[in-house]
Amino acid sequence: MDTTVKAYLDRYQVSQATLDFLDRQPRMFIGGDWVASSDGAVSESIEPSTGGVLALIPEGTAEDLDRAVAAARHQFDEGAWSRLKPLERERLLHRLADLLEANADQLAEIESIDMGKSVAQARDVDIQGTIDTFRYFAGWASKIQGRSAEPASLPGSYVAYTRKEAVGVVGSIIPWNFPLQTMAWKLGAALAVGCTVVVKPAELTSLSTLRFAELVQEAGIPDGVVNIVTGRGSVIGAAMSCHSGIDKITFTGSTPVGQTVGRAALDDMKRVTLELGGKSPVLVFDDVDIEATAEAVAQGIFFNSGQVCDAGSRLYVHESIYDRFLEALADYARGLKVAPGLDPDCFISPMVSAKQQDSVLGYIEAGKQEGARLVCGGQAPEGPGFFVEPTLFADCRNDMKIVQEEIFGPVLVSQAFGSEAEAVALANDSIYGLAAAIYSNDLNRVHRLIPQLKAGSVYVNAHSTIDPAMPFGGYKQSGVGRDLGPEQLDSLLETKSVWITLG
Ligand code: NAP
Ligand code: MG
Repeated sequence: MDTTVKAYLDRYQVSQATLDFLDRQPRMFIGGDWVASSDGAVSESIEPSTGGVLALIPEGTAEDLDRAVAAARHQFDEGAWSRLKPLERERLLHRLADLLEANADQLAEIESIDMGKSVAQARDVDIQGTIDTFRYFAGWASKIQGRSAEPASLPGSYVAYTRKEAVGVVGSIIPWNFPLQTMAWKLGAALAVGCTVVVKPAELTSLSTLRFAELVQEAGIPDGVVNIVTGRGSVIGAAMSCHSGIDKITFTGSTPVGQTVGRAALDDMKRVTLELGGKSPVLVFDDVDIEATAEAVAQGIFFNSGQVCDAGSRLYVHESIYDRFLEALADYARGLKVAPGLDPDCFISPMVSAKQQDSVLGYIEAGKQEGARLVCGGQAPEGPGFFVEPTLFADCRNDMKIVQEEIFGPVLVSQAFGSEAEAVALANDSIYGLAAAIYSNDLNRVHRLIPQLKAGSVYVNAHSTIDPAMPFGGYKQSGVGRDLGPEQLDSLLETKSVWITLG
């Protein structure tokens, strides 16, 4: 850790537990062992509020991945996990959730200093969401059942039934925006049904996953059930996507990488779940409370500094309230506190990396070039740290790059609409279909619109209401399949049809 990061951690009195964790050299977790990369390589994890080096992370090799897959394979094929009585798996997952809860403040600190995000948001959303996801799926372990069937037309007598069997070894590739929570979305259901897993966290944000692995061990989950291989996506992620020892890939990240992963995985017909990018529309009608709705819309884009896959990043407002609404929104946005992630009052935290900051600033520049009107923000505050002000553009057109592409930063683009039909057409004019939001108190209108929006989640009068009991995933190029909810379980289970012919 360099001195600027040390001073930052001291200023905000980071816990001794977190300092101790950083003092233990981060190691990968393979077959229950804590190991360095087989070739000794490491990469620097940068702390985004200071730009300083926080830790050195092992840069795993294809050989390390092979060992992790072999450990997961062995545990699945020969080991106890998949054959454990479901209530025993359930008990271990609850024990893990208890440990996550007991260490929640520390996990929030690690997430904040590694990813840059607000420590309060990390505690309330990322870590709480992680705990809740494991608890929710723990309960499913004992509720996986096949069904008995009556053949509909086949002559003869049969006993016919289905069995649900865990798909096998699951490879999980995780992005940097919600590192621990996204991992929980992948692992909760997989572990509950009896799969074993190999996780590749994003290179930018591996630390919370490594701390999580310590808790997996402490919970008494058998060695080899959970394996963590850190390192580059182009090495570990690519090798996972075509690894013959992996039965299913579950990926969250950008659409272009998701396409590559999906293609490779289908070579040997791995099961695939892809959670990809978004450019989610927000429709605001003229019957809303302007102040309250402006606040909700601002939260929907600026939370986690816009680095959210389902962020409400395209705003369409009825023309009769457009100007007043934008004024209220800009007022609210200007009041959001831009601060280092560990500041307890931070709302706008830095971008995850200098590269992401450059990319977001590039989009802001493109918006100005294309003729969009900058209402507020648009600047990177004086360093250190990879900050970008909350930014609002007005008078955009759907053919603009800033309206079509995922910016993944605190940038909201907006335009006015006249009719409901126009609003729907604008909302659906995107390659993405992750989420959409409607703000209106007209019940008839809301129910008319819900079926017309091409999106995996439709939020009414709020944004990103997310819960383990509700599935999450995309239409169109926002992905394939669903995480969370009972819907996720089937993606981790094979269905075997059993026919017993009676004489
Ligand atoms: P990304 O490149 O798609 O990365 C997601 C994960 O895939 C990371 O673990 C990454 O590893 C890994 N990866 C990279 N190249 C790979 C390959 N060839 N094969 C297999 N895995 C590979 O996304 P990102 O770089 O984190 O962010 C880029 C953009 O993706 C963002 O600006 C945003 O537009 C979008 N994004 C979307 C979501 C979402 O939840 N929908 C989340 C994050 C990002 P390394 O990063 O360690 O190399
Ligand atoms: Mg980092």
